[in-house]
Amino acid sequence: MAEPTRIFIVEDERRIARFLQIELEHEGYATETEDNGERALERIVQGTYDLVLLDIMLPGMDGLEICRRVREVSNVPIIMLTARDEVEDKVKGLDLGADDYMTKPFAIQELLARIRNALRKQRAVAENSPEGEKLTVKDLVMFPSRYEVTVQGQDVQLTKKEYSLLEYMLRNKRTVLTRDQILQEVWGYDYTGDTNVVDVYIRYLRAKIDDRFQQKYIYTVRGVGYVVKD
Ligand code: CA
Repeated sequence: MAEPTRIFIVEDERRIARFLQIELEHEGYATETEDNGERALERIVQGTYDLVLLDIMLPGMDGLEICRRVREVSNVPIIMLTARDEVEDKVKGLDLGADDYMTKPFAIQELLARIRNALRKQRAVAENSPEGEKLTVKDLVMFPSRYEVTVQGQDVQLTKKEYSLLEYMLRNKRTVLTRDQILQEVWGYDYTGDTNVVDVYIRYLRAKIDDRFQQKYIYTVRGVGYVVKD
């Protein structure tokens, strides 16, 4: 029998945690719960979960900070659970790399649908990235199946968005990509922010790659966009 999908429920309201646990196990998922933010972060980065349900207001460390730190090392799907009056947190959570969010109180059927959707997307990414696939430019190597980037053999820690941006550019090596193309591909069609966000993330990437290793990987094409090339 295949291993059950493991869902980690990070929620300090015992009643909600218990309810989620019962519903998810009824659907055939294996679950674990945690009510403390710091301990939750430790457990998530150990990397044994297939998906995380993450409350925002938690003792120890809040869900946004947990999300930000997890994304430095992992692309495990994260669905944020937010209270109705935390709209700003919702936006922040997505910017920090959460995959989706649910506003409490929510219908369990909708949460189950979103969980299936997040798991499906994750699986598609894994299947499209055969083990051993390498994307390279100069001495930079990305291993999509392992979510890893090295430059000159040294590990580079990227956030989820930085990683997606770099992956998109590597898959289109030598093609100049416009800010609009990048926005659509990396941030999604429904992204409503402005195109400056692309420049901001290119800057983050350059700080971690070009500047740190004193070599040019990402080129600006004035008035058009960006390109990576050998
Ligand atoms: Ca809470």
